[in-house]
Amino acid sequence: MADSRRQLPRVDAVLADPRVVAALGRVSRAEAKRTVTETVARARVGDLPAEEVADEVVRLLAGPPIQLRPVLNATGVVLHTNLGRAALSEQAVDALRIAAGHVDLEYDVVTGRRASRGRGTTAALLAAVPAAEAVLVVNNGAAALVLAVTALATGRDVIVSRGELVEIGDGFRLPELICSTGARIREVGTTNRTSVDDYAAAVGDTTGCIVKIHPSNFAVVGYTSTVGVDVLASLGSPLVVDIGSGLLHPDPLLPDEPSASAALEAGAGLVTCSGDKLLGGPQAGLVFGRAELVERLRRHPLARAVRVDKLILAALEATLRGPSSPTRRALLATPEQLRPRAEAIVADLVRHGVAATVEASDGAVGGGGAPGQVLPGVAVALAAEYAEPLRLGDPCLVGRVERSRCLLDLRCIPPESDTALCSAVLAVAAAMG
Ligand SMILES: *Cc1c(COP(=O)(O)O)cnc(C)c1O
Repeated sequence: MADSRRQLPRVDAVLADPRVVAALGRVSRAEAKRTVTETVARARVGDLPAEEVADEVVRLLAGPPIQLRPVLNATGVVLHTNLGRAALSEQAVDALRIAAGHVDLEYDVVTGRRASRGRGTTAALLAAVPAAEAVLVVNNGAAALVLAVTALATGRDVIVSRGELVEIGDGFRLPELICSTGARIREVGTTNRTSVDDYAAAVGDTTGCIVKIHPSNFAVVGYTSTVGVDVLASLGSPLVVDIGSGLLHPDPLLPDEPSASAALEAGAGLVTCSGDKLLGGPQAGLVFGRAELVERLRRHPLARAVRVDKLILAALEATLRGPSSPTRRALLATPEQLRPRAEAIVADLVRHGVAATVEASDGAVGGGGAPGQVLPGVAVALAAEYAEPLRLGDPCLVGRVERSRCLLDLRCIPPESDTALCSAVLAVAAAMG
């Protein structure tokens, strides 16, 4: 013990190692020192041989200085909130690079004067949803709803069906969100049934708006009834429809998901949704609607507190103007497309002595969208013991443990990552012996 401690390299000596010096350009002096100190400490307790300290520091400093690590999403869940929801398109990633520098965000290069912020994104959104007279982009879906309710109903009533007072995840409840704006919730109807008469009886002088929320993460079946957007729009109060998932147009693949276009065409005053769900873009909240209502939101002081930055505006615009997003491609992937890939991977694994099979796998939309809708897919199945080491590997590979197997569903794995997936499994197999 005393011997190995004597052999421990000194922090200063590691910092002076030429390879560490070369890595230093990527991190701050403080970060480098912290990394070296922690690595020496690991060697001190025997986690690492003393002679590997410098190598380990070089490895730790190799990537960008962030703790986030890329994940190969083999869960089969397209919009996995814990994995950052939508993966951005290549075009959106390029846009992030451009927007990272100085850009003409609020500047007109022709006149040299101030110009409207995010005009390219606004134009792309309006082109994508012609039924909207105006649009506003904010921080996320929750912010869009809060801004709408704040601007239209602070100190007034918000009429909502009891069947739509939902929790959207992580203990986050929409009724509490609405109340936090200083509006009063006026609940109407029952959990399973609400009629137009329930709404009509509640509308009055103190009404700020009617809110219709898509119960996006659960389904009520059986003896149910809800009131359509067209009927609610005729009741004379501003109607806000929170569609959640950000589908811009009706999609035959997701027949139960409401869309912004359909809600606007049915008469909604405002439609709110997320940018990083089915739209496949960055985290954002979108508000589409009638010009006069959107303008009230835009002019409200809270709008400034929930506005998005240039990175989001750029990535969102590129998502809208670009080709099919990775989200869209993952949703559309069929068993016929996935099976040959799974077979090739399994053949490779078996050739290396790994017990793997091709199996059917049920994927899901996720992100609180299309509850209960199964996306039939295909997975590479391994022994359940693989799940943990695959998560801890490099690249980090997250599968699904089901029926005592570790399933690697290929739906959300881009085909160009099949080789990386295969290598990750082989590395774990080699380590497990
Ligand atoms: C997801 C969702 C939200 C919240 O959107 P975020 O972008 O996560 O803030 C609000 N309402 C509904 C119906 C949703 O599905």
